[in-house]
Parts: sequence; structure tokens; C-alpha cells
Amino acid sequence: MKINENYLNLASNYLFADIAKKVKAFKMQSPDADVISLGIGDVTQPLAPAVIEALHKAADEMATSTTFRGYGPERGYDFLREAIVTHDFRARGINIEADEVFVSDGAKSDTGNFQELLAEDCVVAVTDPVYPVYVDSNVMAGRRIVKLPCTAENGFVPELPSEHVDVIYLCYPNNPTGTTLNREQLKVWVDYAIRENVLIFYDAAYEAYIQSEDVPHSIYEIPGAKQCAVEFHSYSKTAGFTGIRCGYTVVPKALGLLNALWNRRQCTKFNGTSYLSQRAAEAIYTPAGKEQVKATIAYYMENARLMRESLTAMGFTVYGGVDAPYIWVGVEGSSWEFFEWMLHSAHVVCTPGAGFGPSGEGYVRLTAFGTHENTAEALERIRKTLPSLSL
Ligand code: PLP
Repeated sequence: MKINENYLNLASNYLFADIAKKVKAFKMQSPDADVISLGIGDVTQPLAPAVIEALHKAADEMATSTTFRGYGPERGYDFLREAIVTHDFRARGINIEADEVFVSDGAKSDTGNFQELLAEDCVVAVTDPVYPVYVDSNVMAGRRIVKLPCTAENGFVPELPSEHVDVIYLCYPNNPTGTTLNREQLKVWVDYAIRENVLIFYDAAYEAYIQSEDVPHSIYEIPGAKQCAVEFHSYSKTAGFTGIRCGYTVVPKALGLLNALWNRRQCTKFNGTSYLSQRAAEAIYTPAGKEQVKATIAYYMENARLMRESLTAMGFTVYGGVDAPYIWVGVEGSSWEFFEWMLHSAHVVCTPGAGFGPSGEGYVRLTAFGTHENTAEALERIRKTLPSLSL
């Protein structure tokens, strides 16, 4: 059988599968250890009451033939696309139209799949460290990837590529570093993309965590961005939808063919996310839903504050955690060694920075998605066991 040999160029395992394997092995070896995970970016708080109410109502509609729903419209239901356009864009003075919004089952699928619309020989730039999906999906397609280092030395702001690239993936607030670009810094990228005819894939999965006034929630806040950028959104971290599954992608008509091609691709390969998920997503735009979602984000951001303060007091240099639920911690030695130390001595799981790319070496990522109790306990264990750290 002839396989797609590009797959052989992938790292053998997905990063989080490797971590899960190591944690499982540790738990087998120390069954009594109470392991706290500040590693994988899953949330812990339940869905907002407004979302639960919408889910119950939608489930009841499915019980009667007059209100039952089968396959939905390929771009998503109008009620959700209208809510998105009104609340996420028009409320911010951005004019996005409903037929530029494609509802999906989350940003992982869309950020992974959108590259299908690119020619095989497109050169792709990614920031380094990076959310692995952008790299792996392009490796699968056999494209050349240029890495743009983001380190403490450049303030985690990538420099413009020194060679021509066709596409650049930007994710802000950033996973894994938790850092952001302000309007001026993002404008540099939009201006560059227009000048050099580059397409920007802008992943705004963590937009809801932004607290600072000068950090844009959408790339379309920057003039000209509709001519050069596709934007990905996710309800996973905004509203705890990691299990419900819903997100959306904005493909402006100003990008020419891309809007029609993405529609064509979705019609062929995607049958929509469930009616229940879309009603659940709609509920976060109601006044009650907005308040409830904001309260959960504040809950996680309190963890972020505690992590930043405690780790700094322990002598670590920390980044992120101000406009994002991720804390990027500078560590001694290799990030995998630090991961092993933390797991074995503090029984706390982090994500080794090297798993996100070569420039992630020397850092680990911690997430603010734990409970207050577990986060405080994990920090206390790190503080107590820190004297045993000798890498
Ligand atoms: N984009 C980034 C940067 C992420 O960190 C994640 C999830 O961890 C996603 C996209 C995927 O989100 P979803 O759950 O909507 O697929």
C-alpha cells in the first residue's frame, strides 16, 4: 500500500500523548501519589447555568417531530452566526457579515484543516514555540515550515520572516507562552502581510482572557486585516466547551476565493456541529450567559495571578498569565528533566516547553485551568520540594 510518506516526518507521538504515558507510568509506580495536572489545557469548571438551560431546551426540542432537527446548515445555524456577528464583532466596531462566519466543532479541526486550501508548495511560517497542530498539519501536507523564535530576548514578539513565506500562523493570546501582541505590534504583521501578499491564520482561541485595553480581541480590529487574515475562534476555553465542541472561523469575502472554497470544503467533508452545541454556544451571548462566562474566566485568572506571584516569589522568571490562562516558566536545565523532577518530587504535571518547539527549551508551561484548591496545593508542593531540584 502506498501511504502519504509525509506522515513519516511527524514526531512519532503527539506531545500530550507522550505526557499522558509518562504520568501513567509514574502512577503505576506510585499508586498512592495524588498527582495534580497543570499540564494539558483542559478546563475544570462546569458549564454556565445559561448553557445548561439551553442544552436542556434543545434536547427537549429533539423529542418532538415538529421541533426535531437533523442535519443543520453547512455554515452553522443563522441564530448562532447572527449572535457571533453582533456580539464578537459589531459590538467592537468590526463589520463582519454572517456569511463570513463558519461554525465548526472547534478550532483544532479548523486550524488543522484550513491548510488544505493552500498549494502544496506554499511556505508556512509559525512562531516557535507553537501550538503543535499548525506544524503537524502542514508536515502531513509536505510543506516547508519556517520557525520564528519567540524568546525572552525578543519579548516573545516574533520578528518578520527574513525570507518570503506564503502563510503565517499567529496565535494571540499565545499558547503556550501566555504572551500577547498589542495593537501596534499586530499592525506590524497586518501591514507586512498586505505588503508581501502573505495570508495570516490568526488563532484567537484565548481572546476571552484578555484583560489589557491595548490588546486586540480580533485581528480585524487592525485596518486592512480583512484583506489578509482568516480568524479562528473556539468556545472551549471561552465557555468550557472542550467536551461540548463548538467554535467558528471567519473567512472574509475580501479574501476572494477563500470564502467560497472553504464553504465547498466544509460541504464535502464536514456535516456541522450539533444543534445542541450551537444552542449552547448561542446562550453565552445572553446577558446571563455573558456574566456567568466572565465569572468563570475570572476564576481561572485568579489562579493565574496566584501562580505568577508564588512562582516569582520562589525565584522563577514567569511570563504570560496576565491576558491568558497560561504561565510560561523559565527553568534550569532541560524542560523534560524539569517535567520529570516536578512529576516525581511534587507530583505536579507541567508541559515541557521543548514539546512546543526548539525555542520552548528552558521553559515549562503551566495552566490556570485547575481548581483554586489544586492550584494552591500544587504551588505549595513545588515550593516545599524546590530544595531537591538539582538539574
Ligand atoms: N487553538 C489553540 C491555540 C489551542 O490552544 C486550542 C486548544 O487547546 C485550540 C485551538 C483547540 O480548540 P478546540 O477545543 O476548539 O478545538
